Amino acid sequence: MKQNNLCIYNSLSRQKELFRPLHEGRVGMYVCGPTVYGDGHLGHARPAITFDVLFRYLRHLGYAVRYVRNITDVGHLEHDADEGEDKIAKKARLEQLEPMEVVQHYLNRYHDAMARLNVLPPSIEPHASGHIIEQIEYIKKILEAGYAYESNGSVYFDVPKYNADHHYGKLSGRNIDELLSETRTLDGQQEKRNPADFALWKKAQPEHIMRWPSPWSDGFPGWHLECSTMGEKYLGETFDIHGGGMDLKFPHHECEIAQSVAHHGHDSVRYWMHNNMITINGQKMGKSLGNFITLDEFFTGSHPMLTQAYSPMTIRFFILQAHYRSTVDFSNEALQASEKALDRMLDGWRRLADVKPSPESTIAAEVDALTDKCYEALDDDLNTPIVIAHLFEAVGLINKVRDGHATATAGDVDKLRELFDTFLFGVLGVCADADVSDAKALEPYRGAVDLLLTVRSEAKSKKDWATSDLIRDQLATLGFAVKDTKDGVEWSLK
Ligand code: ZN
Repeated sequence: MKQNNLCIYNSLSRQKELFRPLHEGRVGMYVCGPTVYGDGHLGHARPAITFDVLFRYLRHLGYAVRYVRNITDVGHLEHDADEGEDKIAKKARLEQLEPMEVVQHYLNRYHDAMARLNVLPPSIEPHASGHIIEQIEYIKKILEAGYAYESNGSVYFDVPKYNADHHYGKLSGRNIDELLSETRTLDGQQEKRNPADFALWKKAQPEHIMRWPSPWSDGFPGWHLECSTMGEKYLGETFDIHGGGMDLKFPHHECEIAQSVAHHGHDSVRYWMHNNMITINGQKMGKSLGNFITLDEFFTGSHPMLTQAYSPMTIRFFILQAHYRSTVDFSNEALQASEKALDRMLDGWRRLADVKPSPESTIAAEVDALTDKCYEALDDDLNTPIVIAHLFEAVGLINKVRDGHATATAGDVDKLRELFDTFLFGVLGVCADADVSDAKALEPYRGAVDLLLTVRSEAKSKKDWATSDLIRDQLATLGFAVKDTKDGVEWSLK
């Protein structure tokens, strides 16, 4: 194991702390995964990439890492955490599907997008719906401890009671007293003693299709509970790292802390890490704002706000060019700059193959220093933009040698190659064929697909629907989506 002093920012203590794993040599890491009811977007890409880099770096340092990233497939409700209809169940009802068909459909698409972003799969990817028994047992413990109450078949966490004994709000730093003194009763929340109380178990309404038996009612668990339960199941009562987007600090992670303190008497997590958010042209992303761009739309350029397609590696590089605790603002200009930067980086790396080694070196000291500098940057709370800056220094050295302004030995060349292998391709997880955007990747097929679509439109004009459908369906089997529009026909890679 490398003897590095990895420092990470602990959201709970609000300072950088020297990372010391709980179990010698093994790291337990839990990251809140997606709610699978829609296509992945940039907001999914950032935590996935941030914690992928941490996962890769910890493994590079020699730790065995058990990385758990959950799948929320029940209990994440439409309007707020406690009321309304489950999003997945609603879609299933509207489209007459099994809820698990909806989950599997979006999960497949999520996995596909993650693979294209070169995000490694986690060690365990547990589903909330697969851990109902464990969640019921967890609720029983909180009830026994006196921090929850049953009301009309539902079970709520008693926030004022908990806050009197412990501190509710220590992670987010919110003024919870203000929240607790609110006397207003929200619609549909009469079951709760206090508006701040959150659901551990909800009794299902008659139309609710995702339901399980419990001691309190046929119902389903509250959203916050799954992470406490599955974190403990796979990583133990206390584990090292819990990550997620900053938007999850409150209420989700605050509630997780309350649940584990109520159950065990202590927080389960030693280091809380949160990545900052992505804005689009300075605005929060949101469906109602019309700036909600899915990853697929980035990869194909098929959103009106995009002036071109961006390869998954451009997206990855763009995200890594900012420190994970800074906000990132998306714009076409910013992504185009990232695309150019990545091209420049990879061109520099390729040029290394053409470097003619000399017996003497004028850059040996600089080459030697770069490896240490990259480790230092990563050890300083995963400072990926600084690592990238050092890799550009390496590109600068390669260019100097190529232009005859410096000389490098065969040993220098090997070290530079290792520098890229370790940091660019290894820890940062960039792929070398990254400059091939989807649009470029399609070029070889473009002529053939266009030809087939011309034949199809001929067939259509002769009302030969069988041939027309056959061509469309066969293209679909081969992975090309064909869409008839009022202006003609469009196609893309599925
Ligand atoms: Zn979670």
